[in-house]
Amino acid sequence: MTHFENLGLEKSLLNAITDLGFEKPSEVQEKAIPILLEDDTDLVALAQTGTGKTAAFGFPLIQKIHKESRTTQGLILSPTRELCLQITNELKLYSKYEKGVNVVAIYGGASISEQANQIKRGAQIVVATPGRMKDMIGRGMVNISKIDYCILDEADEMLNMGFYEDIKDILSNTPEEKSTWLFSATMPREVASIAKKFMHSPKEITVGAKNAGANTVQHQYYEVGGRDRYPALKRLADANPDIFSVVFCRTKRDTQKVAEKLIEDGYNAGALHGDLSQNQRDLVMSAFRKKQIQMLVATDVAARGIDVDNITHVINYQLPDEIETYTHRSGRTGRAGKSGISMVIVTRSEIRKIKAIEKKIKQDFISKKIPTGIEICEIQLYHLASKIKNTEINDEIDNYLPAINDVLQELDREELIKKIVSVEFTRFYNYYSKTKDLNTTEKSSRGERNKKDSGDIPTNGSVRYFINVGERDDYDWMSLKDFLRDTLGLEKDDIYKVDVKESFSFFNTDAKFSGLILETFSEFKVDGRFINVEISKNPGGGGGRRNRDRGRDRGRDRNRGGRQGGSRKSHRGKSDGGSGKKSNRRKGFY
Ligand code: ADP
Ligand code: MG
Repeated sequence: MTHFENLGLEKSLLNAITDLGFEKPSEVQEKAIPILLEDDTDLVALAQTGTGKTAAFGFPLIQKIHKESRTTQGLILSPTRELCLQITNELKLYSKYEKGVNVVAIYGGASISEQANQIKRGAQIVVATPGRMKDMIGRGMVNISKIDYCILDEADEMLNMGFYEDIKDILSNTPEEKSTWLFSATMPREVASIAKKFMHSPKEITVGAKNAGANTVQHQYYEVGGRDRYPALKRLADANPDIFSVVFCRTKRDTQKVAEKLIEDGYNAGALHGDLSQNQRDLVMSAFRKKQIQMLVATDVAARGIDVDNITHVINYQLPDEIETYTHRSGRTGRAGKSGISMVIVTRSEIRKIKAIEKKIKQDFISKKIPTGIEICEIQLYHLASKIKNTEINDEIDNYLPAINDVLQELDREELIKKIVSVEFTRFYNYYSKTKDLNTTEKSSRGERNKKDSGDIPTNGSVRYFINVGERDDYDWMSLKDFLRDTLGLEKDDIYKVDVKESFSFFNTDAKFSGLILETFSEFKVDGRFINVEISKNPGGGGGRRNRDRGRDRGRDRNRGGRQGGSRKSHRGKSDGGSGKKSNRRKGFY
């Protein structure tokens, strides 16, 4: 076992490490610290979130700077204000036994002159977001012309947020002969290009398994409340403006529904499932290949043929029934040497499935938070600014320029910029400024539970439900059972005591399915009409499924056989293969 003592760190730093309670170095620390201490080298380090990258660059940086000098010697660029503050705090803890180390955080949304004053007092290490850094360089408030070390932390995130140009500008203000250390969870093309452009034969370290392409995909899960799946999906899309993704749903119905909602909400989305004609499917695929569709919502079967290389994200809107299927899904991204992200939207009750998948794919998931409305606004704003900057000018505009100038002449530069950005940004702002946090915290999810529990969800035995469809909607007990089974992904025997009345019906399941059922039907529409399921106040006699009167149900079926295959049929989420064989579903896999 390697100890911190063996990495070449000074006593004062080791004491700080002891105080922090770090017992042994993480893999990235064990690999990076000796390299960075020994040589003045460039370094590219790939390691997932939460692997201790801050300490991997923080300790060597603190050890190497000249404490007696007040000159700014180290610059750390990091994507967000939160990370800047976090890194700054960490570095302060690391250097608690060092005399005269000053670390200053600079980021947007706080007083620039106050930050400038802190730097004036002498900051050997500056931790900055690219936007604010560039701003302060422009105003001569910070001098990075003498730095020895430049650290790009979370490089993939920074580029994802559209900071490429800013980073380039900032680096052009730094001396040639410095060391650049790049830390990133993934290695998309843009990161590789930064490394190539600005670094000199960097040493490389990769943490984590490097087996056959698998590690090009990062697996993330986002825990949300059952009703928040769709809003969560929207946020994930909004937080990744250049997303090019396949969104997987379990049934054809959900696939169609999610795609329609996305389109309605203004996304470039399309549906791909077996109920479409071959021609329709070809059209969708062709649009996807041309990237006219950014979010392809698909069933597993329909997506099997997708051979598109540059997919940035696979989103599991719902987890598949079988783990094997998850592997196929996530394999749609991270192809041809590119990196990709497989995101899973889960509810608390599905976390155990994540554990099962981790075991199977021998890779850990990262638990991530759905971005808040403000974070999304920030991302969109930077993205928009860089989009404006990188847009090629259409010369046709020249002819109209005098007229346009006339209209806009009263606006000064700042006003003009604000207005241009507002054109698109206000849409996001209006939507997100009023939204809540979607992440289920211990407290909130318990609160939600309690609310639901007021209906008293039994935890064992049999549960009887009320559903607001009946004979009037062309159901008989068998077609209703089929509908429920397919919609819920259950087996036929999981649903019993189906009792169809004129305008509503009852059915039973074992209590373990209650959560799934209430969640599925929390906002469920067929032909624009809400299908509502509630736990019936009347347990429906007996309780255990053994008591159910199968014979009676069968008899009813025979009497009503004629209703089968009515208009309902199209609403049933038929299983993808059409074989109807589901014997292994939901059993034993998770
Ligand atoms: P990353 O930047 O890779 O996402 P961080 O540097 O933020 O990871 O570290 C994640 C967490 O792990 C922090 O809370 C940090 O204090 C802790 N940590 C870092 N190194 C160690 C270590 N060697 N032992 C125990 N905890 C550590
Ligand atoms: Mg970090």
